[in-house]
Amino acid sequence: MTSRLEHPLHEALGQIVAAEQLVSTPEVLANYSQDKSPFPPLVPAIVVRPGSVNEVRDIMRLAGHHKTPVNTRGGGFSLTGYLGECVEDTIVLDLRRLNRVLDIDAVNFTATAQCGIIMKDLSDQVEAAGLHVHTVGIPIGYTTLGGVLSGVQGGGYPASMCVSGTGLYHLLGLEIVLPSGELLRTNAGGANVHRSQDFTRGGNAPDLTSMFVGDGGCFGIKTEACVRIHPRPQEMAAGCFDFDDFDCLWAALLALTALPELPYESIVILESRPWSLFYFARGTQPTILDQTLSDIEAVLSNNGGRKSPPALQEQALDVGAAEPAYQDLFVNVDRGLLAFVAGKKEFPSVFKQVRELLDREIESRGLDELGVGLMVYFSPMLRHSIYTTISIIFDVDEPGSREAALDLQCRGYEKVVALGACPEPHQGYSSTVNASAWSPEFRQLMTGIKQMLDPERLLNRGLWGL
Ligand SMILES: Cc1cc2nc3c(=O)[nH]c(=O)nc-3n(C[C@H](O)[C@H](O)[C@H](O)COP(=O)(O)OP(=O)(O)OC[C@H]3O[C@@H](n4cnc5c(N)ncnc54)[C@H](O)[C@@H]3O)c2cc1C
Repeated sequence: MTSRLEHPLHEALGQIVAAEQLVSTPEVLANYSQDKSPFPPLVPAIVVRPGSVNEVRDIMRLAGHHKTPVNTRGGGFSLTGYLGECVEDTIVLDLRRLNRVLDIDAVNFTATAQCGIIMKDLSDQVEAAGLHVHTVGIPIGYTTLGGVLSGVQGGGYPASMCVSGTGLYHLLGLEIVLPSGELLRTNAGGANVHRSQDFTRGGNAPDLTSMFVGDGGCFGIKTEACVRIHPRPQEMAAGCFDFDDFDCLWAALLALTALPELPYESIVILESRPWSLFYFARGTQPTILDQTLSDIEAVLSNNGGRKSPPALQEQALDVGAAEPAYQDLFVNVDRGLLAFVAGKKEFPSVFKQVRELLDREIESRGLDELGVGLMVYFSPMLRHSIYTTISIIFDVDEPGSREAALDLQCRGYEKVVALGACPEPHQGYSSTVNASAWSPEFRQLMTGIKQMLDPERLLNRGLWGL
């Protein structure tokens, strides 16, 4: 392993970025060693913080010339660790200096931003223009636009995913630095060189933008993205209903998601005894919103639900609007996150089997005595699927607790894939679990694309087993 101060390209990288943007001191490198998972830390050899697209391109050309791997990094909020293959001599590219909003277009309802921007900064600037951009439900203050578009299935899950869908539904075009250092525009300026602005995806060619969504960053480095933005009603209302058993809860959810007009912006179901279903709606006028809530509550009552106690009702707005108090509940807890999406019809069986696996392991190995426990919630994603997160909480001070949580997390993802469902993270370890289920034909195509774009396997080497 190369000594931290002797990375072979240290001097050459110093010709591309200013000295202070080159990190090789052990104390600072340590900050880059860990994501938000129980996976063990991997300290990188060197970190570079480019401040322009041209610097990113020069770094890729240099890396290509020396066949040195490059690992892209945004906010470091990944869920399933870094790949061992990405450590030795790997250059870690921290993209958070590419953080400008380039355009907010209130006529076409689009925002164009550099991909290292923190989601909250993007959101704040779009909100200042009186509009809304879909970002992420929880870690809005930490994750980057590029990290979420790359590292999450479907390009990310916003708080309003129940009705807005994933980031991909709102993404119009990307600017990408390819492993060769070339610059690709997937839409305006690329698929049509005469077009200066993105307004529809795949307008002049097959939709190549999607190919880079949820790729974990293995096909290219996203430097710019154009996304759709929206007006948003400001009045909010929320509530919570309890259900004594899963069957009633499920019947209520099926009924709600089958309504011709979805009356809610968000539904969050917390597994507890009884089950709690939080509902959250927006509207332009309080009176209309009152009616919307009554409509939701009628469906819930008709299916055996009852209003939750006041303590839960009081949390409903925080949960629905993903307010900071609710976000902190997740961000500041040590846990392994088992997050996945299943078809709505398939969900009850998938969920039951994953839960049974985890419960069996916790009980038979006495893991609760190590401080390992579960926290579960799920939400409908549009009408067709269910997004679930099972937090595997551990106790950092209890020897063996982190390792046990990690083991449960890995086995959980293996089970999810074996049951035909989809892990949320498209990064680190989970990419290899996903790839284990690829058909030979699919693998051949993916290998061919990687080989064409990145013959030296420079970018995020080992992701998807490529
Ligand atoms: C507590 C918690 C709650 C979460 N809740 C949500 C949620 O509500 N909704 C949601 O969508 N996600 C959620 N996530 C998942 C999180 O959004 C993803 O892990 C996301 O990928 C992290 O973004 P990041 O900027 O931190 O990227 P990183 O963790 O730094 O990188 C993630 C992956 O993307 C690649 N990458 C990063 N930037 C680029 C780029 N510019 N170009 C190409 N590849 C790149 C990296 O190489 C890596 O493979 C949550 C995560 C945590 C820890």
